[in-house]
Amino acid sequence: MKIHHIGIATRQLKEATALWQDALGLEVDSMEDVGEQGVRVAMLPIGETHIELLEPLTPDSPVGKFLDKRGPGIHHVAIRVDDIRAALGQLKEKGVRLIDETPRIGAGGCFVAFIHPSSTNGVLLELVQQQ
Ligand code: ZN
Repeated sequence: MKIHHIGIATRQLKEATALWQDALGLEVDSMEDVGEQGVRVAMLPIGETHIELLEPLTPDSPVGKFLDKRGPGIHHVAIRVDDIRAALGQLKEKGVRLIDETPRIGAGGCFVAFIHPSSTNGVLLELVQQQ
């Protein structure tokens, strides 16, 4: 297992990339809209992992609501797994509360699923399986 990325909620990707790209010297590897989740996503590789900057496409999207409640900041931590369905089955068996019982398609065409923060000490966890 590895950390696949750390998701950071921002009001504007442009502003956020000014820090990560211009001031810290990371590069934006990809940028895309994930319509299903209502976010624009910029991926910046850092070592073996990525910083994932998120900008809501609409105020009522999950990231839009997060920004309203808590302001910009760390939104989730994503763990890379080889078999997301097996990982979800194992978590469910152990009584962990899942947001997604079945994987959906996330940024980069990966399979993703979210684990509820009430089961993870308040940290929204994302599982990622690369295709
Ligand atoms: Zn993510």
